[in-house]
Amino acid sequence: MEKREELYAGKAKSVYTTDDPDKLVMLYRNDTSAFDGKKLAQLDRKGMVNNKFNAFIMDKLEQAGIPTHHEQLLSDQESLVKKLDMLPLECVVRNVAAGSICRRLGVEEGTDLTPPTFEFFLKNDDLGDPMVNESHIRSFGWATEEQVAAMKDLTFKVNDVLKTLFRDGGMLLVDYKLEFGMYKGELVLGDEFSPDGCRLWDVETREKLDKDRFRQDLGDVVESYESVGRRLGLDFDA
Ligand code: ADP
Ligand code: UDP
Repeated sequence: MEKREELYAGKAKSVYTTDDPDKLVMLYRNDTSAFDGKKLAQLDRKGMVNNKFNAFIMDKLEQAGIPTHHEQLLSDQESLVKKLDMLPLECVVRNVAAGSICRRLGVEEGTDLTPPTFEFFLKNDDLGDPMVNESHIRSFGWATEEQVAAMKDLTFKVNDVLKTLFRDGGMLLVDYKLEFGMYKGELVLGDEFSPDGCRLWDVETREKLDKDRFRQDLGDVVESYESVGRRLGLDFDA
């Protein structure tokens, strides 16, 4: 497999074409951003940690029957993925209230959400990723009814698998964001699952172990991501 030219660079990852038109190389950079790119930093080792964390989680999801774009780890900061035709939507499931839902609805952080809630956001940096509903998605043609149903179904399936996985490591999966795309007619999970795109709390102490450490200047951001991985049995030096 040969890495060719950069296709696009996002806020945290860069994507490269390869000699296989169906595959891309995803480079996890150390760049970190929050608040729609208004807060930026370079965090040592973050690219490596998120790349290996994501590969570990994607393998677990594949084993549970969820189709993912992940093919293989290529290096500390690179993975080979299927080239998806991405849908411009972010799918968020929340088991516990935190972040934007608290600001929007005036609920207290830590409120248990039973059943878990589901929200769609439009992936649009200029607009600050606004929340959208299924009617918007249909009227503007961002996804078909079938794709909407499949995204919701797969996002909740991911919740079943990961809630248990994190719980076994003594952690609470508070919320997370997923992105999907199409590959040869099939809806496939793309992008990344790492502590950059979810909230994880220690079950006992409720200590924040995710990107909120960066958003809220709590320190030890990457160290905390690594501790989450280690609690799941992941060896970052392997
Ligand atoms: P952002 O776009 O939020 O700044 P990143 O820095 O993570 O995010 O950039 C990665 C980009 O690659 C995102 O636009 C994401 O939608 C896209 N992407 C993720 N997985 C795939 C894939 N398998 N095929 C094509 N594009 C992908
Ligand atoms: N999230 C993300 N990328 C985004 C927006 C949200 O990864 O562009 C994740 C975020 O880390 C959290 C979940 O989605 O785990 C819900 O985010 P929320 O709507 O609460 O927004 P935030 O308060 O993080 O801005």
